[in-house]
Amino acid sequence: MIDVHCHLEHESFKTKIEEVIEGCKIGLKAVITCATHPKDFDYTLNLCKRYSGFVFCSIGLHPEYIEEIDEKVLRAFIDFVEKNKENVVSIGEIGLDYFWVNDEKLREKQKEYFESLVDFAKRVEKPITIHIREAYEDAIKILEEKDYQMVHLHMFGGDKFLDKILSNEWRISVGPILLRSKTHKKIVKKTPIERIMLETDAPWMKLEGKPSLPTDVIVVAKKVAEIKGMSLEEVEKVTDRNVIEFFGLKTIQLFQSNI
Ligand SMILES: [Zn+2]
Repeated sequence: MIDVHCHLEHESFKTKIEEVIEGCKIGLKAVITCATHPKDFDYTLNLCKRYSGFVFCSIGLHPEYIEEIDEKVLRAFIDFVEKNKENVVSIGEIGLDYFWVNDEKLREKQKEYFESLVDFAKRVEKPITIHIREAYEDAIKILEEKDYQMVHLHMFGGDKFLDKILSNEWRISVGPILLRSKTHKKIVKKTPIERIMLETDAPWMKLEGKPSLPTDVIVVAKKVAEIKGMSLEEVEKVTDRNVIEFFGLKTIQLFQSNI
């Protein structure tokens, strides 16, 4: 099983990072960890190098930090990804967040930088991992205008826009919120399993009141199996394949099976 979206750079993991990753290795094939602020880029990249073939990284500029983003930050971001292209499997989280950002000017600024980041991802041919909160219409409009297919919508909850997502052949990932959200259940029901990937957003997304771990992805998989009327093994097989193909992951297990 693969957790396609978590945050291993989070403070709460730092003192016990080996323990967390070794724990993940018992039940998972791979994890993709997502660094969304420049202060975390080096740390995250080093994790990917240290656990090569198991920990993969996505690097982005989160729309929530829009006040801190300017041309200099964007330039440094681009340089960082270009320099470490081999080790970066996705550009993200990037996107629009109107929940935390109310100011109209800042929302405009979010759109502007979102467009630049999508252009950059297209140029370097990397998939994009998208965060959207209360901004589906604007975000989807931008993505459609950019006409880019390698789109992964993390924790997608915009059921009214699902038809557009499906007709554009974009991917979604579902997380622990599936256990309590009717909207997310509806989305999983309607989305072909070939378009679904599994995530935890650990440790941000809570599970039974506690911060989650990447290994909690199994709970999400069980719920997907229940909703889809599939076996857990089949959900694992198809969602793993989706992730490996979409992000082009070269996992250790793939290496071994190729020998
Ligand atoms: Zn996240």
